[in-house]
Amino acid sequence: MHTHIIPEHLPNFAEKFGYDGFISLLHHREGAARMMKGDFFFREILQNCWDPELRIEEYAKFDTQVQVICTIPVLFSYWAKPNDALAISEFLNDHIAEIVQKYPKNYVGLGTVPMQDIDLAIKELERCKELGFPGVQIGSNINKNNLSKPRFFEFFEACESLGMAIMIHPWEMMGKEDMTKYWLPWLVGMPAETTRAVCSMIFGGVFERYPKLRVCFAHAGGSFLATLGRIEHGFNCRPDLVAVHNNVNPRNYLKKFWVDSITHDDVYLKYVIDQIGTEKITLGSDYPFPLGDLEIGKFMLDMNLTQEDLDNIFYKSTLDWLQLDEKQFLV
Ligand SMILES: [Zn+2]
Repeated sequence: MHTHIIPEHLPNFAEKFGYDGFISLLHHREGAARMMKGDFFFREILQNCWDPELRIEEYAKFDTQVQVICTIPVLFSYWAKPNDALAISEFLNDHIAEIVQKYPKNYVGLGTVPMQDIDLAIKELERCKELGFPGVQIGSNINKNNLSKPRFFEFFEACESLGMAIMIHPWEMMGKEDMTKYWLPWLVGMPAETTRAVCSMIFGGVFERYPKLRVCFAHAGGSFLATLGRIEHGFNCRPDLVAVHNNVNPRNYLKKFWVDSITHDDVYLKYVIDQIGTEKITLGSDYPFPLGDLEIGKFMLDMNLTQEDLDNIFYKSTLDWLQLDEKQFLV
């Protein structure tokens, strides 16, 4: 669970919609492409970002058969005009649906929806359901709006009633303008972004309102679990600031959402297991990007975990989060 994919070729969205800022792909050499955001170079990607068969081969090296795929957050396009973001979402979702249809034993798809317009987001969410996706991926903030904003409640309600799971991925990192060096937006900003999303949803009462919502936070929940003591203490000592919309202790939510396993740290993963249990930890990779766990959980085999814990992390938690049956993947 938690891998990113992109179509090999993207339409010229800037030309199509009449303004700049969209992602485009320049295939500058065999097996590689430059992702451009307008005229700015964003990152170089390799063939395993778009080639479904190469991805299956690379995964097989680590005894992993199934990948949950979703788009790359920079393609969310929440900043664009709503109808244009809808068109981009439709294009990306159709591409993911095609791959799942062609390789049903190897791929599960998560959709993307134009969160800047809740009506359009729900419309595309419904279509994602029809395409057979068990859930969608959304950003940790929506154009700097936190997920506690009442305007998003309708979307969460729709996810709950349609039975669509949600993966929350950090993006548009807070403070990125102030820390352009040393890859800090990725190293410092991303864990903070995810914590912002977890805390916003807890303190905004989202999990109270929608108890059946199935949410998985990327990168082991960012820094949320590592700083939970501080967050809980803040809740206890300044309820006038923290408990204004929900008076339930944040620790009570520990087994109510999922996180992925991307920690690069066996000691920290052990702590995460102690906090929320392996039934709530999914095998994340962030493949095919360099910050990901590109050995797909191999480090866990040296952690002296029980077979039950390994089974939970390696597949059962993801099946439970997405409400899928393992039988559909048996070959
Ligand atoms: Zn990711």
